[in-house]
Amino acid sequence: MNLCNRTEVKRLLDKYGLAPRKGYGQNFLINPAVPQMIAENSYTMSLSGNLDNNAPCGVIEIGPGVGALTSCLAQYYDKVAALEIDKGLIPLLEESMRDFDNVKIICQDVMETDIPALIEEEFGDIIEQGGSLSVCANLPYYITSPVIMKLLESFSFSESVPFSSITVMIQTEVADRLVSEAGSGEYGAVTAAVRLRADVKKIFNVSAGNFYPIPKVSSSVISIIPHGGISQLYPMAKDSPLGIDRLGKKTCELISLAFGQRRKTIVNSAASAYPKELIVKSLRNLGLREDIRGERLSASDFLALADNLNRGL
Ligand code: SAM
Repeated sequence: MNLCNRTEVKRLLDKYGLAPRKGYGQNFLINPAVPQMIAENSYTMSLSGNLDNNAPCGVIEIGPGVGALTSCLAQYYDKVAALEIDKGLIPLLEESMRDFDNVKIICQDVMETDIPALIEEEFGDIIEQGGSLSVCANLPYYITSPVIMKLLESFSFSESVPFSSITVMIQTEVADRLVSEAGSGEYGAVTAAVRLRADVKKIFNVSAGNFYPIPKVSSSVISIIPHGGISQLYPMAKDSPLGIDRLGKKTCELISLAFGQRRKTIVNSAASAYPKELIVKSLRNLGLREDIRGERLSASDFLALADNLNRGL
């Protein structure tokens, strides 16, 4: 069965009385080279995070669709758990994945999923054997950033995010935002919040013609690689009176304030939470200008500022 052939995808959907659902962001991959490259990149990254090359590797896929990426992942990984929201696709996936006994299809909305419980349930044995876990998906574009934030925020700042990598295809515009640096026009609240937990790199671009139906936007594959957490970005976090987890949360609040009023200086945008004199004093302590805007602050600047502000209260 060629799951990346437009005619075959249409035939399969027809057979089960289905059509691509816009509301679920259903744009299916129809160029076999693309899911192959995504799976290969994801797996290479998971091997580099695995200390023992013989240890098993697992992957969570979000939105298998008709199974184009799923079948590629199944060739690399010991286990694939794929979450699909669309009940209509389940019997189709049972047919298209019938040759892969390492694939489990779970009919569930990723936004309603308890990620740590899913990991425990589906990958507990792999983790016990010292194996690694990844996430890989061609994400439905209507929930790109919420899914990425959910995957990262399912874990407290005092624990590490347990994925070797999160390799996802998303809109190029969002990809450019996530890889941007402080001070650039694309840099935003989600960029800073993601960087508190991970590094992000763009792997390759995918034009709209590689999908059925053809989407209005172009796409890019990115890799989100969890780093050593906030104490790697800001070593003084270990001595923060707030503790690592509260410092992380306070930093997220500060990021929201800063980007809620993007054109204002941080002194003004954070004034609802901290006295202005304290913000000015903290900025001076850190060698930052008093008229700086949040959009010029990196994730580690936000951490240092949140720590200074809360020490001064
Ligand atoms: N993986 C397939 C491919 O690459 O051809 C399909 C990708 S399509 C862009 C997105 C998939 O995510 C669809 O199968 C859609 O039904 C599913 N989906 C949408 N929202 C979801 C959600 N909240 N939870 C789980 N799956 C979802």
